Amino acid sequence: MAGHIFGRSSKATLPTAVRGDGCYLIDADGKRYLDGSGGAAVSCLGHSNAAVRAALHAQIDQVAFAHTGFFTSEPAERLADRLVANAPDGIDRVYLVSGGSEAVEAAIKLARQYFLEIGQPDRHRVIARRQSYHGNTLGALAAGGNAWRRAQFAPLLADTTHISPCYEYRDRREDETVEAYGRRVANELETEILRLGEGTVMAFIAEPVVGATNGAVPAVPGYLRLIREICDRYGVLLILDEVMCGMGRTGHLFACLEDEVAPDMITIAKGLGAGYQPIGALLTTKAIYDAIASGTGFFQHGHTYMGHPLAASAANAVLDEILDQGLLGRVQAQGSKLQSALQSALGQHAHVGDIRGRGLFRGIELVADRETKAPFDPSRSIAARIKKEAFAAGLICYPMSGTIDGQHGDHVLLAPPFIISDDQIGELVDKLSGAIDRAIAV
Ligand code: PMP
Repeated sequence: MAGHIFGRSSKATLPTAVRGDGCYLIDADGKRYLDGSGGAAVSCLGHSNAAVRAALHAQIDQVAFAHTGFFTSEPAERLADRLVANAPDGIDRVYLVSGGSEAVEAAIKLARQYFLEIGQPDRHRVIARRQSYHGNTLGALAAGGNAWRRAQFAPLLADTTHISPCYEYRDRREDETVEAYGRRVANELETEILRLGEGTVMAFIAEPVVGATNGAVPAVPGYLRLIREICDRYGVLLILDEVMCGMGRTGHLFACLEDEVAPDMITIAKGLGAGYQPIGALLTTKAIYDAIASGTGFFQHGHTYMGHPLAASAANAVLDEILDQGLLGRVQAQGSKLQSALQSALGQHAHVGDIRGRGLFRGIELVADRETKAPFDPSRSIAARIKKEAFAAGLICYPMSGTIDGQHGDHVLLAPPFIISDDQIGELVDKLSGAIDRAIAV
C-alpha cells in the first residue's frame, strides 16, 4: 500500500519490496525485477552498493543530524567542495536540501532575492518551457509546463509563462536544418522576454535533457548556448534543472557540460543520493552568493533537514563511486550499447516513432503511425499498459503519457543503474520489446 499514499493505496495492491541486489529489486514472493528506470532515474548505483552502505554505517555512528542553524558538518562541507570542483565554470556555492522540488523552489527564491539585493525589484517573472517538469511544490509546479499536473492547482500557481520546448522529433520542420530549428525555438525566449517587459524577467528554467514529461529528450546541439546568450543579453538568470539528467546520468557529471553551457544555477537530486538517502542541491555562482552575503547577509529560506549529515555522507560515497570508479565512462559505453540494442530490437517497429537520449538516459516514443507520427488514442493507455506488462515480466520501466501543445503522447523512460551489464541490457530490451507488443496488441 506504499505507506498509505492517498489514493494510490485504494487503487492498487503493490508488491512489497524486501531486498535490493545490484540492478534488481526483489519482492516478498522472491520475484526479481530488473530496475530499468532506477525507479524514477534515482538508483544510479543499483540497490546494494557496499561503499554507500559502509559510509552510512560509519556516519550514523558519528552524528546523524546537527541543525544547520547551529553547525556545519564534515560530510556536508566535503560534498559541497567536491560538487563545486566538478561543476561547470563559475559554479561556486552549494545549498543542500532534501529533494528535487526543494532545490527548484530554492532556485526560484534565490533568483528573486538576488534581484532585490542588486536593486532590480521589478524582476519577478520566470519563463519556462511547455515540455517540462520541475517538481510538485507550488513554485516548482508553477514553473513546470505539464498541463495535467498543473490543472487543478492553477489558481495557486505563480504566473509563469512558457515557450516551446526543443523537441526535434515532433517540431523540426522538414525543410529546416537542425541548427535553424534550434535557433527558431531558442529565439522564442527573446520574444517572450520582450513581450513581458525586459526588466521584469528574473529567470529562465529548463532541463538540459527533459525527463519526466516525455522521456529523455535532449535539446539539439547549440540550443542551450543560444539560450545562454539571450539570458546574458537581457540580464536574465539561467537555471538548469538537472534533477533527473544530472549526476552522471548522461555520461557527464552535469549534463550541461556536454552542451558547454555554464548556468547561473543548477538543481540536482535523484542520483545525488542514488536512493540511499533523500537529498538534493542547488548550486550557484559566487556573484549571486556575494550579492546576498554583502546585502541581507543570508538567504531568506530554509528547511529543517538542510545539509543533513547522514544524507550528505551517502551522497559523498555516491560521488566517490561515480568519479573514482570510472562510472562516467561506463555510462557512455553502456548507454551506446543500450541505444544500439533498442535500435536493433525496436528501430523498425511499426509503433516506435523515436528512440533518443544521452548516456543511460533513454526515451522511446510510441505512435499509432510511424509515417504521420500520429499518437495513439489516449483511451488506449498505451504507456500505462507497457508499464503493467513489463512489471509482470520482471522489468521496471517508467512510462509517461501526456499532452504537449494539444497532442497526446505515450513514452517510456529508461534510466538503469550505471552498473548495468551487457547481459542485463539484453534482458531489459527483450522484456521491454515483449511488453510493448503485448500492450499494443490489446
Ligand atoms: N525537476 C526535475 C527535472 C524532475 O525530474 C523532478 C522529479 N521527477 C523534480 C524536479 C522534482 O523532484 P522531487 O520529486 O525529488 O521533488
